[in-house]
Amino acid sequence: MKTIVSVICSVIIMVSCLRAQRLPEIAVPENYKLAFAPDFATDTFAGQEEISLHMLKPSNVIVLNAADIDFEAVMVHLGEDTLTGKVTNGPENQMVTLIFDKPIPAGPALLHIHYKGKLNNQLRGLYLSRANGRKYAVSQLEAVDARRAFPSFDEPSYKATFDVTVIADKGDTAISNGKIISDTPGPGENQHTIKFSTTPKMSSYLVALAVGDFYCQEGSQDGIPIRVCATPDKKNLLSFALESAEHILHFYDSYYSIKYPYGKLDILAAPDFEAGAMENTAAIFYRETLLTIDDKTASVDAHKQVADVLGHEMAHQWFGDLVTMKWWDDVWLNEGFATWMSRKPVADWKQDWDLDIDKARATSMALNTDSLQHTRPIRAKAETPNQIDELFDGIAYGKAASVLRMIEAYVGPEVFRKGVNAYLEKHAYGNATSEDFWNAIAEASHKPVDQIMPTFITQAGAPLLTVKAACKNGRTEVTLSQQRFYYDSKLLKQPSSELWQIPVCIKTEKGRSCQLVTKQEQTVELNGCSPWVFTNADAVGHYRSVYDPAMLRRLSEVGETKLSPQERISLLGDSWAAVRAGKYRMGDYLSLIQGMQQERNLSAIDILVENLSSIDRDLLDDSNREQFQTFVRNLFRPAAQELGWSSAPGEGDERRSLRAKVLEAYGYLGRDPETLKKARELVLQYMETPASADTTLVRTAFRVAAVEGDEALYNKILESSKNAKSPEEYYLYVRALVEFRQPELIQRTFNLALSPEIRNQDAPGLIARQFSNPAARSEVWNLVRQNWAGVQAKTTQSSGREIVTATNSFCDAKTRDEVQQFFTQHKVPAAERSLPRALESISNCIDLKAQQEQNLNSWLGQQHSSGQ
Ligand SMILES: [Zn+2]
Repeated sequence: MKTIVSVICSVIIMVSCLRAQRLPEIAVPENYKLAFAPDFATDTFAGQEEISLHMLKPSNVIVLNAADIDFEAVMVHLGEDTLTGKVTNGPENQMVTLIFDKPIPAGPALLHIHYKGKLNNQLRGLYLSRANGRKYAVSQLEAVDARRAFPSFDEPSYKATFDVTVIADKGDTAISNGKIISDTPGPGENQHTIKFSTTPKMSSYLVALAVGDFYCQEGSQDGIPIRVCATPDKKNLLSFALESAEHILHFYDSYYSIKYPYGKLDILAAPDFEAGAMENTAAIFYRETLLTIDDKTASVDAHKQVADVLGHEMAHQWFGDLVTMKWWDDVWLNEGFATWMSRKPVADWKQDWDLDIDKARATSMALNTDSLQHTRPIRAKAETPNQIDELFDGIAYGKAASVLRMIEAYVGPEVFRKGVNAYLEKHAYGNATSEDFWNAIAEASHKPVDQIMPTFITQAGAPLLTVKAACKNGRTEVTLSQQRFYYDSKLLKQPSSELWQIPVCIKTEKGRSCQLVTKQEQTVELNGCSPWVFTNADAVGHYRSVYDPAMLRRLSEVGETKLSPQERISLLGDSWAAVRAGKYRMGDYLSLIQGMQQERNLSAIDILVENLSSIDRDLLDDSNREQFQTFVRNLFRPAAQELGWSSAPGEGDERRSLRAKVLEAYGYLGRDPETLKKARELVLQYMETPASADTTLVRTAFRVAAVEGDEALYNKILESSKNAKSPEEYYLYVRALVEFRQPELIQRTFNLALSPEIRNQDAPGLIARQFSNPAARSEVWNLVRQNWAGVQAKTTQSSGREIVTATNSFCDAKTRDEVQQFFTQHKVPAAERSLPRALESISNCIDLKAQQEQNLNSWLGQQHSSGQ
């Protein structure tokens, strides 16, 4: 699954939070025959199910998972004999016990269930979706919602084969995991029956079904038919996704030793979808905006996103679908791997996208959550549905991917690939654990990966290396000491008990040297005396480094010539973290970036803009805002002037993205009047004739123009959103509304999010975005609390936590206490970790302000008086 983007158990709930909710070992499924008949007149579906079971022991009960299912008949066939079952709830939530008059003997048995389910509005199970005046039934079963579509052994290790049949209305078609093997009229006069081929053995959460009016564009690769499908109005927005899927499939066919194993691949953009996308076996389902773009006019970012998300979901067809984690505590084996893998096939295809540098940026972002006390280990215990849903976070995706990147660099890409393939071959169509994975890589590499990985997978947080370097007897002596890093300066000052085994490569003027750091403190001697050392060569390590101020100065002097863009990204990320933790002064950091006027790497500029945005959001007031804006304009002026507002013919994608980023900094953070004016002109031009402007730049223009935008502009953007020709154009408009700063416009955007005009899949994200607008966040926080019932009606099982997380944008004690009190009283599902993380982030910001505000003011003051 690709996520877009953490309530404390009360005493009573705590009991069930801690108890394992696993099925008792009575029977295992071998095959499910599932027949679904959606009824769009009543928003329900009828289900008929036949499970071929293997009874592990004689028993008169069978326990299954089921939620919101009305059982109509339950029978077991034993030869000539038919036993009728009674259904009782329990023993746990979302389980039923089927009780029969006499024991079913050990061995094979056939269980029949007739039932009814509801096509819900919660975007999970088999749910109801609407588009263009028609209704659709769409499934989303991960993590634990197969039980809402059919009674099942809904745990990842109960793999079985599935035969799906659908009874659909005449004008509708259906997509599922198998190929269509027959399509016959009936049983009703206006119905037809579609049967799909038997799937290979797979987990219940990977079953897929979509019923409705779809258009598919067809292609193929390596003998595998590929279709990209959507509602018919999107038929002209499918070609880039299809082209991407073809490239990616071919790459994976050669990367993995096992060819794509499922015979066909369907990729569907569903009108309402909670996650970003879902890797159902051979039937990947998507949010429309991540799949359907206009190849001719879409922005570079939109193109990158489509390819990246496809790279992720298609990687899952092997990592996740073919080999599946035994239990959800190891969900990183799916998500971390797919996140790490996704860029490989895309980088191979689109070489001017600089995706290797993107990875350094991703590592820097992954270290962010890991700097909180309330982070979690990659492998974390989860038993209840809420706990399982909450595991799909930045740790399972970003951190796990970052650790895999480090291990790949440590053993070498080709050896890593061999280890990966050995793991897949050994566990194909089965389940595996973290240990299975790192043992396979250790075996392939003959390196202690099985010692290194557990320190990163089972321990929370990330290491900080404190670096001391000296020249002794013509050699450079580097002492590295490790401790757990926290943004919280008080926690950072305390000794930490964690110990990591860290592959560290040191770069100096004389060369590089790699070693495994296993002790609290370790000294390395390098040939020759180097004036500088950089302790994360190629920026592949999942750790931070902090140097003494003199070394930091020397690194900033040589950064542009001696460090690679990846290394500069790592240095920027670590330095900003050190400012937040009180290890560096704000002035040290600003001096570092002051020397980066010539930086033209997109990811490096991106991290710089992000850090400056934090200052802009949290540390400025009327006394220093103008000085800060002058500093930002001076920093970005050379790049802004060089890049201008129009692209040269034949210009590459990276340069177009860079222009957009630089002008965003220059206009949004620097408030350059000319840039604000141009942005408004471009926005107006785009709304007249969308095809006349570069969409990559238009995204920036909307954000910048909205900052000083008035009601007339707001109305025009809102009006334009109603006639958008593609999802990208629509979101450009709707997201621009979030950036307006007048109180009545802030309220209108909030009301819009709660109205039927905004889909449930989009509403929580829109409100969350409002929190990142510094002029809007206090008002939005009041609105959220005053309209909580309305907000809840627009959130689903896991999307409510987006709003909890968004409160981390505050930076004062009063609001922190309000956030704590409000969400303790109004519990949000699957947000057990999100709340303490948000509160900790607010506290860290308060701390940052107290420690660095004065230094920021004096540094800006000095710049001002020296006329810089
Ligand atoms: Zn995923």
